[in-house]
Amino acid sequence: MSSIIERFAPSPTGPLHLGHAYSALLAYDAARKAKGRFLLRIEDIDTGRSRPAYEQGIYDDLAWLGIKWETPVLRQSERFEAYAAVIDQFKERGLLYPCTCTRKQIAAAMSAPQEGVAAAVYPGTCRGRDFGDPALERGDYALRLDMRKALVSLGGAGVIRKLHFKEVGKGPNREKGKIALDMGALIEGVGDIVLARKDSPASYHLSVVLDDAFQQVSHVTRGEDLFEATPIHRVLQALTGRPTPIYRHHKLIRDGEGKRLAKRDDARAIATLRDEGATPGDVREMVGLSG
Ligand code: GLU
Ligand code: ZN
Repeated sequence: MSSIIERFAPSPTGPLHLGHAYSALLAYDAARKAKGRFLLRIEDIDTGRSRPAYEQGIYDDLAWLGIKWETPVLRQSERFEAYAAVIDQFKERGLLYPCTCTRKQIAAAMSAPQEGVAAAVYPGTCRGRDFGDPALERGDYALRLDMRKALVSLGGAGVIRKLHFKEVGKGPNREKGKIALDMGALIEGVGDIVLARKDSPASYHLSVVLDDAFQQVSHVTRGEDLFEATPIHRVLQALTGRPTPIYRHHKLIRDGEGKRLAKRDDARAIATLRDEGATPGDVREMVGLSG
């Protein structure tokens, strides 16, 4: 009998706040209820923004919340070779092209999307650019997935329509059940996403897909701000022959003004609440998970 595997995959780029606690507790409770496994993965792929102190904070906060995870913990910074191997395969299949658009645009496209900062669809300026282009020697560049080419390589619209993922939470618009992909929406609405950078072996999208498969994660529990990323992950699963977990996108924990708690907002950081004398039970109550 195979039991479920849940995971919590924070980036050590800031303190954990109530939203993270909610995600972690939901995943942990679900794993325990099903007598399944719970994994912690440190998404420290952005080496420029990741800090050991934040990683330590993750361990401290989760332990304080009463969460137990398996060790050793997988850290994405240890997985660069695995990501690079897939990038090489994609390159050989002609699915990638180098993009020399601004560093800032590319940096934003590398990390996990966040609510309110919808990434603009890349206009395809560099599409078709050759890897032999001498301009590439001078600096950093991104590797973009040619989305149309990728979808055509999978079999085109008819095949794409049959690709789906199962949503057991609620998407932002209460989507539930079998969510099918749409080739037009992927090309027009998502576009040529960044999969890696010259000096950075994988973007959020690629690393998360490869690691969920590597760790045999069966259930992905995460905030609904990542719902829009899931069709992209489904495409990457199809392109790399990885299995598709079941997804549960949960509501976001908001502050009194209805704003999503950002990582820089220390007010609801777990460590702050703890220092102020809150108990783990109080935190459960604050996110609506008591009883
Ligand atoms: N590491 C991502 C973040 O902190 C979440 C990854 C995921 O759950 O897919 O935003
Ligand atoms: Zn470009």
